[in-house]
Amino acid sequence: MKSFDELLEISTRIHGHICAGQVIGVRMSMIALALLGIHDPKGLDRKKLYILVEIDRCATDAIQSVTGCSLGKRSMKWLDHGIMAATFVNLLTGKAVRITALEEARERSKEYCSEIADKYARQLEAYKIMPENELFRVESVSLIIPPEDLPGRPLKRVQCEICADWVQDCRDELYEGKVVCRNCARGRYYSKIENDSLS
Ligand SMILES: [Zn+2]
Ligand SMILES: [Zn+2]
Repeated sequence: MKSFDELLEISTRIHGHICAGQVIGVRMSMIALALLGIHDPKGLDRKKLYILVEIDRCATDAIQSVTGCSLGKRSMKWLDHGIMAATFVNLLTGKAVRITALEEARERSKEYCSEIADKYARQLEAYKIMPENELFRVESVSLIIPPEDLPGRPLKRVQCEICADWVQDCRDELYEGKVVCRNCARGRYYSKIENDSLS
């Protein structure tokens, strides 16, 4: 396992800037990996880890960078809950931990690096050195990951009976007696512009 500084440097490069979220995400991932007994998440252990992130903000990029888990590999799932938390699962043992970044840490960061005047710069530096229990809540949890959410080949592919798009991984729904895609079942998140030439 690389050091905190090395991991932070890599995640900063991938994310595009250094920020408190990178520090939080790297530390969160390191704690989780240690607790789950995963030492080489991008190598030997790469099929063992599964992560559910509860926010789409800076720290999520750091978690991806440290663990190698990603949406595209289906080893990371994004839950749109707006909570700075993630659950890390060892698929081999079933052991799981949910780690939440504590809101109080913002205020408490004043006790560290008080010489730094800028609030955000101070938080960033403080988060590097604050003890884990002042930054995070760590819980042992259990959860069931549906087979259609796991990495691997799609369990199912069906064609929507309304729009003809193909739907993978059991995301099809029954709507007025038809097997349809979510766009057709729940309404589209976009509207089509007719007669628009894209050429
Ligand atoms: Zn950022
Ligand atoms: Zn459809």
